[in-house]
Amino acid sequence: MDRQQGKTILLVDDDPEFRRLVAPSLAARGYRVLEAGTAKEADDLLASASPDLLIVDGQLPDRDGEDFLRSLQRTARSLPVVFISAFWRDSESYRRLTEELGASLLMHKPVIPVVFCEQVASLLARHAARHGPEVDASAEEAISMLRRAYAEQLPGKLADLEQAVQLARGKPADQLLLAGVRTRAHKLRGTAGSYGFPEVGKAMGRIEDALAAVATGGAETGLEVFTTIEKELAQAISSTRQEADRKRAPGVAVTAASASALSRLLVVDDDEDFLRMVTVMSRQRLVDVVACQTPEEALEKAAAVPLDGALIDLQLGPGELSFDLVRRLRELPSCERLPLAFMSASVRPFDRVAAAHAGASLFLDKPLDPDILETAVQRLVALGQSAKPRILLVDDDEDFSRHVRAILGARGMLVHHLPDTVRVLDSLTEVNPDLLLLDVMMPGLSGFDVCRMLRTSPRWQELPVVFVTAHTGLEARIAAYECGGDDYLPKPVVNEELIARVEVRVERARLARERYEKDALTGLLARRPFIEQLSAMLAGGKRQGKPVTVGIIDMDRFKEINDTFGHLAGDAVLASFGKLLLRRFRTEDLRGRWGGEEFILAFRDSPVDTICGALQRVLAEFQALSFQGEDGRPFNVGFSCGLACFPADGDSIYDLTRAADRRLYLAKAAGRRQVVAGG
Ligand code: GH3
Ligand code: MG
Ligand code: MG
Repeated sequence: MDRQQGKTILLVDDDPEFRRLVAPSLAARGYRVLEAGTAKEADDLLASASPDLLIVDGQLPDRDGEDFLRSLQRTARSLPVVFISAFWRDSESYRRLTEELGASLLMHKPVIPVVFCEQVASLLARHAARHGPEVDASAEEAISMLRRAYAEQLPGKLADLEQAVQLARGKPADQLLLAGVRTRAHKLRGTAGSYGFPEVGKAMGRIEDALAAVATGGAETGLEVFTTIEKELAQAISSTRQEADRKRAPGVAVTAASASALSRLLVVDDDEDFLRMVTVMSRQRLVDVVACQTPEEALEKAAAVPLDGALIDLQLGPGELSFDLVRRLRELPSCERLPLAFMSASVRPFDRVAAAHAGASLFLDKPLDPDILETAVQRLVALGQSAKPRILLVDDDEDFSRHVRAILGARGMLVHHLPDTVRVLDSLTEVNPDLLLLDVMMPGLSGFDVCRMLRTSPRWQELPVVFVTAHTGLEARIAAYECGGDDYLPKPVVNEELIARVEVRVERARLARERYEKDALTGLLARRPFIEQLSAMLAGGKRQGKPVTVGIIDMDRFKEINDTFGHLAGDAVLASFGKLLLRRFRTEDLRGRWGGEEFILAFRDSPVDTICGALQRVLAEFQALSFQGEDGRPFNVGFSCGLACFPADGDSIYDLTRAADRRLYLAKAAGRRQVVAGG
């Protein structure tokens, strides 16, 4: 990693577990992470290294976190600080920490590493742009901030290159020094153009090509090449100055639609104060809160803007008003799989059955502790983001990665960045991306090598691979396709082109995956993908010692239904049952068509009794639906269901489906229209 580009983060926390949780994720993004367990150690590191950002715990063994910040203010005023605290529960301490003590971001443990890193990265980018602390910048603003930051760093990068050139000129036979020049020029070639310095990009391209020609024994040799390099470099430096003068007010041509908030959460509560508190807490966490006081308002807003999750108070009104809101929310096409959390101030325990039926992933007791709210928001966001297209970008250039993240992030995609190819297979498995963006020239394996390797593995044969590279010669273009790449984007990238090419590929891949995963009639998972996902759920259950419940459902007397009302009417029943299953239960529950008129479900972390109760509710709803036969006669249908549970009934898919099947048979024998969980 280039020292000029890899920022240094000082992480001060006495809990080694926490450091172990976030340090590797930060390092994977290309940051240099220094760790300190006490304020004393932190002081020493602050004196010897000069970090670009500080993450500090509110309570250190030898000093209070706030005191630590106070002393820091005297020595390093401009250092951005992430304060991790268990304290600020009121607006006063929030104000003190942010306004007086200069904390740019307040966080609560536990944090989700990917969200945490995203926030840290965006804080660093904002700080580099010397911009104010507000977070609600639009994507265009975010990109223009990145550009301004880059424009500020560019003279430093060029000076660094100049120094490398002088060193190499002093020892022209030293291949390592020459390679250092080439790497620097290569990175600038790729990025400068994307950030609005096309002349610099082109000059760097000529430097890199001249060095490549020397390496292969081409035209220029020895000292001649340095004359070329110095001429190009001088040109680049002067054009940077001109650009900087010209672009005092940066104009950004990007057609990014939505705001850059990481996620959007619907919060429904009739308590205005509570809504205000949630809004304030969420603003600095890149969560955009859509606050609503009534169910009508909630439905109207949910139909208008895309959401990542919803937090709903259970005491919105009399009876089942809140559950009714959830049912109506889930009727909206965009909210079918919306992750939900319920809050309640009632002294009665939550009605777990009603909540599992309605699909709550989380339950929160009021009054809400900010720590708990924070965790809940993060979990909902994580659940909601599982539906967003994921892009893995492998590129050793941090500036370019930030650029791509801003552009594609604004289009609702999640961009994961990997700075080198060493861990590419692990990252692919971890991220399971919808598309891979690959740089060509990287330390270690080249992008072409990586692609060739992926194409030999059945798991990654279909993955769309798009190369992004400064090498635009015919040979490189051909090589990109020969190694199995799908597309080719030249650096500097044109933002609109990047968006268009990535979106088209991602959409096609999504359609292909849906064709494979989804059953066309019911919209549920087909048998094979269901088994694959159940197998992952079971592995998780075993690892965490949490239960997994499997249910098999069979329509009652379906042959008769077909014979009496027609096969088409039978199909309509199956389709409508699929819809009902999709709208009930949690986002993370699995629902599939097992075959014919049989269905299969799987739930984790819930007692089998709760699931049994929730399924009885679904049965009651389903029986109450009225269908029409081909001759117009109305009819209704019931089903029977058998449940089985890990660990009580076994630990393999075979054991669990066999036990569930046996109980399904018991349900049929006992008169149908029922759910059997034991025996
Ligand atoms: P039981 O209550 O014992 O389950 O009686 P049943 O008539 O439902 O018996 P069984 O489950 O063995 O019958 C399955 C029937 O479901 C056979 C077939 O006609 C019907 N079926 C299976 N797949 C479909 C389908 O995709 N569409 C329609 N319309 N009918 C289907
Ligand atoms: Mg059957
Ligand atoms: Mg049947």
